[in-house]
Amino acid sequence: MLISSSLIQLTPPNPDHAEISLFGPGIGECIVLHYGNGRWFIIDSCLCPETKQPIALAYLNSIGVDASTQVTGILITHWHSDHIEGAFALLKTCRNAKLYHSGALSSREAFHLAAIYKKDIFSNIDREIREFSNIVQFLFDAKDKSRLDPIKARLTFFDYRDDIQTRMIALSPSSTAVTQSISKLVELIPKNNSDRLRNVIPESENLNSVAIHFTFGRFSTVLGSDLEETGNMQTGWSAIFNSNIISELSLPASSLYKVSHHGSETGHHDKIWTDLMIDNPLSITTPFRRCGLPTPANIERVTAISSEFIITRDPASAKTIKRDNMVDREMKAVTKERIGINEKMGHIQVRVSHGGEMNIAANKNCVRHIRRSI
Ligand SMILES: [Zn+2]
Repeated sequence: MLISSSLIQLTPPNPDHAEISLFGPGIGECIVLHYGNGRWFIIDSCLCPETKQPIALAYLNSIGVDASTQVTGILITHWHSDHIEGAFALLKTCRNAKLYHSGALSSREAFHLAAIYKKDIFSNIDREIREFSNIVQFLFDAKDKSRLDPIKARLTFFDYRDDIQTRMIALSPSSTAVTQSISKLVELIPKNNSDRLRNVIPESENLNSVAIHFTFGRFSTVLGSDLEETGNMQTGWSAIFNSNIISELSLPASSLYKVSHHGSETGHHDKIWTDLMIDNPLSITTPFRRCGLPTPANIERVTAISSEFIITRDPASAKTIKRDNMVDREMKAVTKERIGINEKMGHIQVRVSHGGEMNIAANKNCVRHIRRSI
């Protein structure tokens, strides 16, 4: 695997190069993906803490990309607030984009719940609920249904084989996960009208997350979203390895992994590393500071099986991006260094040629954990 490092590039990538840019944690996590010839895809949404606008739009604008015409798809991997906030604003701006969403979101049950949310006193202040209602309403109101596509494992977002193969496939959710997700929506409908609806988004929603496999010539990557593992063979990562999707679709081993669920133990499955990755891939993720993820133990586990593990922000850092001495001591076992440019949000920019060479850039908010050679 050929890797080089540089500063974040503020010009668009070459038309024959792909890009995976990971942003977070502003308010949330977002991936902006270039799949050749000026075509872009946005996965989840993340708001800039200062402007409260989607970082994807600010970034594309800064490198001279017209989001209203060049973004061909927006994917909402699951509806937790750290992944959906700002998604509705993305939809409105990216007029050329198709919206890919969990099948549960376009169910009658979701529509029913969104209608109840609308009347709830919290709907104006709870951003998660507001985003959910807006998106569900958008799905039902849309006149052009060809712009919408509910996702299940094996869905092909695109597959071009002209010059080089450029293909994106959904590895999840399983049918069982979608059905479970819909039944959770029914449970969320309040039993009587005075019940409050605040904080009703189901926790198990991560099992319904959309993990992705993207191929660009000799390069491929797995973007794990927040997909977790409970040991149930029909949902989470097990459902992928329990099916024959990898062999049937000839998914090549990946050299880049967006580590699932912010590096948590529950997002781990041994087979991710043996069946989907090359040995010691480059691993990247965003922290989820409300839950303290990834923990020092999580970081150590991922770093030990990666060439390098880059996190968009020190998970233990205070809001002002201050270094914490205790964390320094705990992390002493792992080598790290910082590089970067002036940006407030963490940004990892990976640009790849179809030959598979990766150029990695990470701004100053990122922490890089390099595996010790034995
Ligand atoms: Zn998350």
